[in-house]
Amino acid sequence: MARIAFYREWRPQTFDEVVAQEQVVFPLRQSVVKGETGHAYLFTGTRGTGKTSLARIYAKAINCLSPEDGNPCNKCEICAGINEGTLLDVVEMDAASHNSVENIRRLTDEVLFAPAIVRYKVYIIDEAHMLSQGAFNALLKTLEEPPAHAIFILATTEPHRIPATIISRCQRYDFRRIPLEDVTVRLRLIADSHKINVTDEALRTMAVLAEGTLRDAISLLDQANTGVEGDISRDAVLNLVGLVDDQFLADLADALLSKRIDQLLDLVNRLSLSGRDLIQTVVDLARYLRNVLVCKISDNPAEMIQITEQSLNNMLRLANFSDTKTLTKLIQGLSALLSELRWTPDLRTSLEIGLIRLLGEIPDSTIANLRSGNSTVTVKVASEGELPTSDKTVEVTAQPETQVSGLPDNEEPPAKAKLVEGDKLMATLDEPPAEAEPDRSVEMTDEPEQIVEAAAQPEPQVSGLPDIEEPPAKAILVEGDKLMATLDEPPAEAEPERSVEMTDEPEPSQVMDHEQLIIHWNNVLNELNELGHIDILIMARSSRVGYDGTNWYLNFDSSMNSQFERCSMPDATRLLCRLVSQEMKQPVEVVIRKSPDAANNVGATAEPEWLSRIRKVCQETDVPLEVEE
Ligand SMILES: [Zn+2]
Repeated sequence: MARIAFYREWRPQTFDEVVAQEQVVFPLRQSVVKGETGHAYLFTGTRGTGKTSLARIYAKAINCLSPEDGNPCNKCEICAGINEGTLLDVVEMDAASHNSVENIRRLTDEVLFAPAIVRYKVYIIDEAHMLSQGAFNALLKTLEEPPAHAIFILATTEPHRIPATIISRCQRYDFRRIPLEDVTVRLRLIADSHKINVTDEALRTMAVLAEGTLRDAISLLDQANTGVEGDISRDAVLNLVGLVDDQFLADLADALLSKRIDQLLDLVNRLSLSGRDLIQTVVDLARYLRNVLVCKISDNPAEMIQITEQSLNNMLRLANFSDTKTLTKLIQGLSALLSELRWTPDLRTSLEIGLIRLLGEIPDSTIANLRSGNSTVTVKVASEGELPTSDKTVEVTAQPETQVSGLPDNEEPPAKAKLVEGDKLMATLDEPPAEAEPDRSVEMTDEPEQIVEAAAQPEPQVSGLPDIEEPPAKAILVEGDKLMATLDEPPAEAEPERSVEMTDEPEPSQVMDHEQLIIHWNNVLNELNELGHIDILIMARSSRVGYDGTNWYLNFDSSMNSQFERCSMPDATRLLCRLVSQEMKQPVEVVIRKSPDAANNVGATAEPEWLSRIRKVCQETDVPLEVEE
């Protein structure tokens, strides 16, 4: 027999077992104890917070033959029948797939008949916001004059899409995201009962990754239990979802801040050998430096950053010998580097170049000798991974006499660094003056049928390097006449000429209505959950989706860097492509996009509307937003 997934096995069966949600559990239980039930309930809240589980518990409790302190006994024939789904008087309907008038008519016709063996017929309508207008109207008639034996429980993640006429007839209960502590405690209970050796830190990490969704957290534990050999540590969990551990990030940050280029390249080499995702590591490094910045600014960083003591000590040490300006510059530089990496055919090389360039952002140079005179530092880079040939050297040369026109005036001639592969000059990089933004140029050479159109290309060439074109300041990916995507994301500090051009972008035409779109998207998200790709699920669900018949769009606000990055990774894109094609029963391309005003794009999101709104405000006011309970 197939093993039951943890989240099914650990679905709560009584009010006592429900994690958090006291604001809902208490009144419902009281109504059972006092025998005062309503006829219509509206359960609202994020997915995975226990709405349908609690609806089932309530259905059992009000019908149970021997309830205990309001709890269903789970032993009597009625409890057993509901648990097994064989009791016809308790009906669960998924409005996502049964949203028509006929579906509701059948139900409201049937509701008139008295129940066969229970006191109350209970109708649980999940994803109730998916009902059509006609279906809502049909339901409203019954809610206006419900038979005494009928109870309706509507569950929804999007209460604002339920007509006011329906809401006004329901007792409304709002489910909250579950606090980190409560999720962790629950995970510990499950782990211990299954004799899983897992550290508290690892459980906490799972809870953080699940963002207040208990179901996702339990699925992560399930995944770790089958996917990790031996004890489950925090690092093992991070490894499982493709994130690097804190010590590695500490080493990377250390190498950057102390300007140790050899150590930096060695770490990139190790990273590359480990097969870890390079782009995600840049995301993590930026987040790590953000935490170092918090250590620098905050009087009580331990409260703001919930990590292990050792990690915190590492951060405090780094915070001690860096200043806020440098940290801010590095974080911005990493963000710019991310947009380059997304399109590069040779990730590792671009990452190395990008990191070396970032060293130029750091004052009190320990590599100042590289800038003066003609010294050359050569660092051997082990050949591996994406780099095609051996014997590569990264050469950083100072060329004080180089004329660079078109760049902002600058007291000190910028150092040039070039990556040499055999005799071939691969790329040059400008070490930007301390105050200037690093070049955010990108080139895509891996898509032969597409044309890279360079806009606002600086006209002057760097003398002495005639065969190397200055990379364009902005590149637009064009396929045929259709503008597919732009490569630059807006820098943190607004620079008008670097703004993203979205003007000619094809608007996904509405080939299906909002409801259908969401039904399909939720099916894809559920499939991601079933397959255990919780990390992709967590990242993808905050996108606004659109579909034009050929392409399935995932739109991310410009503030949603990590979500965008994760979904843009090849493994995620491939998987999403497969699942969406499967869902749409035809080949569909998945296009991951980021735009400054994704909220205006055609599409719908699985994220609650209030959160989208907060995101928008934060984005407009430049306030960083991290979502956690
Ligand atoms: Zn019972």
